Parts: sequence; C-alpha cells; structure tokens
Amino acid sequence: MGNRMNEGFKLYTDGNVEIELFDDDLMIFSVQGSKNDTYQVSMNENMWLCDCDDYQYRSEKEPGSFVCKHLWAAFFKVAELKNED
Ligand SMILES: [Zn+2]
Repeated sequence: MGNRMNEGFKLYTDGNVEIELFDDDLMIFSVQGSKNDTYQVSMNENMWLCDCDDYQYRSEKEPGSFVCKHLWAAFFKVAELKNED
C-alpha cells in the first residue's frame, strides 16, 4: 500500500496530474502513468474511480477500499487545490 502512495506522490510532483474538471461534487483528472499511459481518475459524490487495470482488478477484491497510485496522485492534487482557497 505504502508503495502506491509513494508512486502517486512522485506522479504528482512530476506534474503528471491534469485537471479536466474541478467541482465540489464532480472532479475529473487525467493522470499520466509511469509508462506514458494516461488514465482517467474521477470523483463523483465522494466515489473515486480510476480506469487502470490495477484499480479494476483490486477494487473487485477490496470494494471501496483500494487506492491505486493514480488516485493517490489525484488526492495530492486535490489537497494542493484546496489549500489555495
Ligand atoms: Zn489507477
């Protein structure tokens, strides 16, 4: 788990998180992964989703509790944006 957080933090600090939409109850981010693939991370009414394979596979086994590195990257971006207010 800790590894994914560190990898997500690296994606965030490397500037790989792009904001597509930022609203209180709907957010969409494009996160570029380590292999140059781009994944879509979205938050809709506090439900977070990522379209990467890691998330699809793991969230079936751990519904609602799994956080992939792209989600972590988006969380750091959200924290930054909220701090700016
Ligand atoms: Zn992901």
